[in-house]
Amino acid sequence: MSDCLFCNIAAGKIPCDIVYQDEEILAFRDIQPQAPIHLLIIPKAHAADGAAGINEGNSAIVGKCFEAAAKLASELELKEGFRMVTNNGPAAGQSVPHLHFHLLAGKPLTLQMA
Ligand code: AMP
Ligand code: ZN
Repeated sequence: MSDCLFCNIAAGKIPCDIVYQDEEILAFRDIQPQAPIHLLIIPKAHAADGAAGINEGNSAIVGKCFEAAAKLASELELKEGFRMVTNNGPAAGQSVPHLHFHLLAGKPLTLQMA
């Protein structure tokens, strides 16, 4: 989608700091990090909305995102742990309507989830 920020990043039209990619997945550093390690893991193809847009036909991509997260956690030696977050909808603070997961690590993360 030409007007989607993450589609434009995936297409290389907007620069980003890539940490992992394969045919389907791109992982890059968040421009406004909220932890020493704050990555965004996205499908390269537009996946509309976010978690609410997942269905039988496209749910495999969620597994791919988590496979990438596990690879990154191993490569970056996140032995103390990491957190995966996805925001869905305005009340959750979602600002980009293309499925993405935040991978946060590098400091003790608050136990408060909301
Ligand atoms: P969300 O608010 O959950 O939709 O997450 C969107 C994330 O994208 C935010 O954490 C932003 O800081 C991040 N972001 C926005 N623009 C860029 C960009 N050009 N490069 C990297 N991260 C970005
Ligand atoms: Zn998109």
